[in-house]
Amino acid sequence: MLGAGESGTGAALLAKAKGYDVFVSDNGAIATKFKEQLQEAGIRFEENQHSLDTILASHTVVKSPGIPDKVEVVGKLKTKGVEVIDEVEFASRFTEAKFIAITGTNGKTTTTLLTYHLLKSAGLNVGLAGNVGQSLAKQVIKDSFDFYVLELSSFQLDGLTTFHPHISILLNITPDHMDRYDYSLQKYCDSKFRITHNLTAENHFINFSDNALIKEGIAQREFTATMHGVSLQDQDCTAYLNGEVMYFEDGLEISQGETVLRGPHNAINMMSAITAARILGVSEKDIRDGLKTFKNAAHRLEYVATINDVSFINDSKATNVDSVKYALESFSEPLVWIAGGIDKGNDYDLIMESVNEKVKALVCLGKDNSKLREAFHKEIINLLETDNMKTAVRSAMDYAQANDVVLLSPACSSFDLFKNYEDRGNQFKDAVIELKKEFENKSSNQ
Ligand code: ADP
Repeated sequence: MLGAGESGTGAALLAKAKGYDVFVSDNGAIATKFKEQLQEAGIRFEENQHSLDTILASHTVVKSPGIPDKVEVVGKLKTKGVEVIDEVEFASRFTEAKFIAITGTNGKTTTTLLTYHLLKSAGLNVGLAGNVGQSLAKQVIKDSFDFYVLELSSFQLDGLTTFHPHISILLNITPDHMDRYDYSLQKYCDSKFRITHNLTAENHFINFSDNALIKEGIAQREFTATMHGVSLQDQDCTAYLNGEVMYFEDGLEISQGETVLRGPHNAINMMSAITAARILGVSEKDIRDGLKTFKNAAHRLEYVATINDVSFINDSKATNVDSVKYALESFSEPLVWIAGGIDKGNDYDLIMESVNEKVKALVCLGKDNSKLREAFHKEIINLLETDNMKTAVRSAMDYAQANDVVLLSPACSSFDLFKNYEDRGNQFKDAVIELKKEFENKSSNQ
């Protein structure tokens, strides 16, 4: 195993349980909880180094998806002809369960959690693994599920060869992580399409057919699997949105207002998850109930609080322009938008129209806000810069009037000022709650 995080440790435990001679190597420090799990299972490991001789003597290497192919040790393994695979590929070789595999540039976690929730609340014996939840390999040791819903990043997809999903969902492809793909969009698309590689005529491919790169990718390939298009416009698709209503080929109609997820992007996510659930025989009643009881992960268009009729929404997970585009489209109210951080090569022209239409003020929250400022200073008169979350929230409140929405949807990564997007979202929530208390105290003292 290369890398001893959740997936590497899980793969090591599975390999040990299956009788392999296992060695784990991590060139950073291994977290205490993983060290304890390895020690308890009697698995050899090293940290802060890679012992090349031992690694190169392996038959199969399971690599953490965080390690790029370009690093020296992976290059050497490949030259020597050692099989280098992902934890999901390894684990899938030891189970007969059916996989519902989900990828896309954005929306993976939401769709994975929703699909899992719909299946589980309908009574199916289903597990949750991949990028969210516990390692697949760890769960395959017991292997007590009939289905697994799996969130797959493109890095994980790159390490798949024989992995064979029953249902594959491809939500969208927009440029991201270009540094890992030699700045080649074709390579990034090919990586995403790996989710369809081993589909056969008994399998299903659900995809968002309005997306140009998905359309192109489908045209370049041949499929025997049943194709299910999801669309925001095309009534010939398996599922499409018309106004507020999601229509399905089998006659099911669900109004988005009956669900807890807002915005066109979430209609895509829901139509994909519902299509998968219908393929697996989930009833209309169970789907309607499941949609009402679903609770999404935090930091994705998460409602925080209302202060003097101004609502605060935390979308800290929006780290690229496409997700911000959908966030802006999810509101009809005037917006005070908080954005900024580390720009990953954003093209702000893609959202200029929505920004012009909806955003009345922009609070730039980052160490270097020059790109945001340059992009929007002509369009937005009310533009302010800060590197402090509390100031950002207070300034946003100053700009806002009753019935406006303050939206944190940064379009950037968080590492300039925060540990990660969760930390950024939590600091936003804390600052909003603190401000709310101040307003409440003020009004009770009056
Ligand atoms: P991922 O796991 O792919 O990062 P998430 O479900 O965590 O996806 O959502 C990440 C961000 O993208 C959030 O800001 C969310 O509101 C937005 N988003 C969710 N679904 C979609 C979609 N289908 N298309 C574009 N953006 C989306």
